[in-house]
Amino acid sequence: PKYLPREDGTPGQSNGVACAAIEHKMGLKASATCQMNFDDSIGWIVGEPGKGMAAMFTMMNTERVSVGIQGLGVGEAAYQAAAWYAKDRIQGRALSGPKYPDQAADPIIVHPDVRRMLMTMRAYNEGCRALSAWVSRALDAEKHSPEPEVRQRASDFIALMTPVVKALFTDLAFDSANLAVQCYGGHGYIRESGVEQYARDARITMIYEGTNGVQALDLVGRKLGAHMGRYLRSFFHPVSAFIEENNVDGPMKPMIEALGKAFGALQLSTATVAQRALKDPEEAGAASADYLRLMGLVAMGYCFAKATKIAGLQLFFGSEDKRFYDAKIKTATFFFERILPQATASFLAIKAGKKSLMALEDDVF
Ligand SMILES: Cc1cc2nc3c(=O)[nH]c(=O)nc-3n(C[C@H](O)[C@H](O)[C@H](O)COP(=O)(O)OP(=O)(O)OC[C@H]3O[C@@H](n4cnc5c(N)ncnc54)[C@H](O)[C@@H]3O)c2cc1C
Repeated sequence: PKYLPREDGTPGQSNGVACAAIEHKMGLKASATCQMNFDDSIGWIVGEPGKGMAAMFTMMNTERVSVGIQGLGVGEAAYQAAAWYAKDRIQGRALSGPKYPDQAADPIIVHPDVRRMLMTMRAYNEGCRALSAWVSRALDAEKHSPEPEVRQRASDFIALMTPVVKALFTDLAFDSANLAVQCYGGHGYIRESGVEQYARDARITMIYEGTNGVQALDLVGRKLGAHMGRYLRSFFHPVSAFIEENNVDGPMKPMIEALGKAFGALQLSTATVAQRALKDPEEAGAASADYLRLMGLVAMGYCFAKATKIAGLQLFFGSEDKRFYDAKIKTATFFFERILPQATASFLAIKAGKKSLMALEDDVF
């Protein structure tokens, strides 16, 4: 407490708790952050001695998922701003000839490179949103399912996905905010446009509640091997069952094949990381960020494939939301063709191991 309580519980003398300074931050300006000093302060233990870390993690795990969602919110806001601007800003003509001949120039949304940026942001946000819905359902099931094995499976899945939600969502949110600045061109660098704030605000989500590097270590170091791989099975089983069930000729075949390939890379990477880490813990650290990204890509791919299946059925049965479902399939197709291939790069980086990371002597840096 700021003041030590008297016997009767009323505030007594000062307890040496003081705010040393309000920090000047890159973003997040509406939330004041300060350095607190506790000079010879008296504290009272909360809970039982020796159980502080466990108590702290109850809060921390909730916070990590929340920060992931915070990132996703910024990423979505950035996308919406960029999509609006790309339709509003006129500059140049489409490569294939004027698309809006009645205007002095075409809106920049006609340019493939601008669409690359918009589609990337859109796919990141939709993929993360779908994954967040899966995790949210598990959070409900963990608390409210009457079946103990459902509660256990949900709890395992949440434990596995917490570092993924935190790190993947916030990494991609910053990428989205950065792309939004690029979509705005010079105007994006000017404060008045508002998008530079998204980039500054998104940046903290990659740092607080444990940096994304620490999330990756949590995934590889604590979650992979937990209970002989039980957490992992809560994710691997539904993905492999879905691939098996849907690996048939039809419009989804290319997606299922791409998902199967990325999932295979994840399975192989899991075995590689587990084996190497037994002999050398630095190998786990060297693989961690790429492994987390690979798992995130597979999880998003699975969500997109499931969404595509539902959207296809909705269109087949003549849904009134034709534009929504059509856009879902087009966004998923973009994800599979232009984002999921990053899984191969992550896999190759994991396979390479720690050697080139650790080769340079410290004093050469
Ligand atoms: C705006 C803001 C608000 C905050 N709010 C709170 C709050 O309310 N409560 C609170 O308790 N804290 C708060 N923090 C602190 C925040 O949680 C930490 O800054 C953050 O967890 C990173 O810790 P650090 O700054 O000590 O970085 P460091 O631990 O020094 O990390 C520096 C770099 O080294 C890497 N690194 C460190 N150790 C390892 C390792 N073992 N293996 C691999 N990589 C490693 C990190 O990933 C990072 O890239 C806040 C920070 C900011 C900026």
